[in-house]
Amino acid sequence: MLKDYFDKLYTGTQQDFFELAATNMDQGNRMFIITANPETMMIGDSNHDMDMALCSPDSTIVPDGIGVVKAAEQLGIEMNGRTTGVELSAYLIKHAGATGKAVYFYGAKQEVLDALIAKVKEDNPDINIVGSHNGYSNCDEQVFAEIEALKPDLVLVALGIPRQEVLIHRHLANFDKGIFIGVGGSFDVLSGTKKRAPAIFVKCNLEWLYRILKEPKRFGRFFRSNVRFLSKVRKIKSAK
Ligand code: UDP
Repeated sequence: MLKDYFDKLYTGTQQDFFELAATNMDQGNRMFIITANPETMMIGDSNHDMDMALCSPDSTIVPDGIGVVKAAEQLGIEMNGRTTGVELSAYLIKHAGATGKAVYFYGAKQEVLDALIAKVKEDNPDINIVGSHNGYSNCDEQVFAEIEALKPDLVLVALGIPRQEVLIHRHLANFDKGIFIGVGGSFDVLSGTKKRAPAIFVKCNLEWLYRILKEPKRFGRFFRSNVRFLSKVRKIKSAK
């Protein structure tokens, strides 16, 4: 339930989280990171498998969306800003490249994946990409069987919510190590296929607005989940 997600939300700074995840990668630990916006939480509130992923003691929820940060503050939780999936992915890819760790990319269209891999190799010539698969061939189980055999140190899954989180959660117990992150549209941004919002939008916490302006079809989904989210947060607050 929504309240439980706030109880386990990461509240530190983005930089501290980057370092925590990188240290876990270096030490061969296992970590499952959910980068949450209000929509992620509302899906969890009504989808049993997503709820299980969000509530799992094995998952860490970080506040990707400003709506999550503001709602947490409304509930009296002291926050230290957002930790975004795009920036976390970029940081960990770089860290993996610098330390010889094995990376696997799953998701997005084949041309996006190709552009991502080319860009990552250009920026990190020593990177060890052990495998990749596009997200449009309906073979989640086969891809995860391959990932299980390869045992990468970093697994980025870009299939959209809740599919990416539910899939990682279902397979997590088969891994002893690896940093697993559901990264949504991050491959589109990191490959250069889609532009991230200009810095001023990011700085003013208006990245969500930029995404809607660029892709108006997102508006209905965004509006419905955010209105429901605000009303539920208000109820949690008044029950406190
Ligand atoms: N995607 C995919 N297979 C699908 C549907 C989506 O690989 O069947 C990819 C899509 O290409 C994009 C990512 O999943 O790269 C999700 O993007 P979106 O911006 O919708 O993320 P969300 O808003 O769900 O975080």
